[in-house]
Amino acid sequence: MTAAYEPDNIFAKIIAGEIPSVKLYEDEDTLAFMDVMPQAPGHLLVIPKSRARNLLDADPAVLGKLIAVVQMLAKAAKTAFAADGVYVAQFNEPAAGQTVFHLHFHVVPRMDGVPLKPHAGGMADVEMLKEQAERIKAVL
Ligand code: 5GP
Repeated sequence: MTAAYEPDNIFAKIIAGEIPSVKLYEDEDTLAFMDVMPQAPGHLLVIPKSRARNLLDADPAVLGKLIAVVQMLAKAAKTAFAADGVYVAQFNEPAAGQTVFHLHFHVVPRMDGVPLKPHAGGMADVEMLKEQAERIKAVL
């Protein structure tokens, strides 16, 4: 049994516009913004606007739309950063590494031989994140 959705989570506040984020894509159902503690340049997060704690309680119809946006942004981020590959990750519950309890996919451009920085490590400079978001938006 999956734990309940907690409406005061940080991504719910981003959806509601109560806290700032560096957005790079939005449609009726989906929002994408830069991760504040990026594991590599171009690390972005894709979330549904509707409530889901993680993959385990998500509506499959919501997931269908979400994964299509993940694919589009994975391709855009790979192009924008001239990356060799792109890492897509999604964690469910603390045992699996989930720290924010609103469903999200990580999209991270990867270069051959360059290791990822630690998960949820240091905070990035906001101006740098804005520049990276513009690079991705330019190829959408
Ligand atoms: P997970 O729940 O999959 O472990 O990761 C949550 C991710 O959200 C982490 O990569 C972390 O850096 C990011 N994150 C946590 N708080 C914020 C925030 O307030 N704004 C943004 N943009 N990202 C956040």
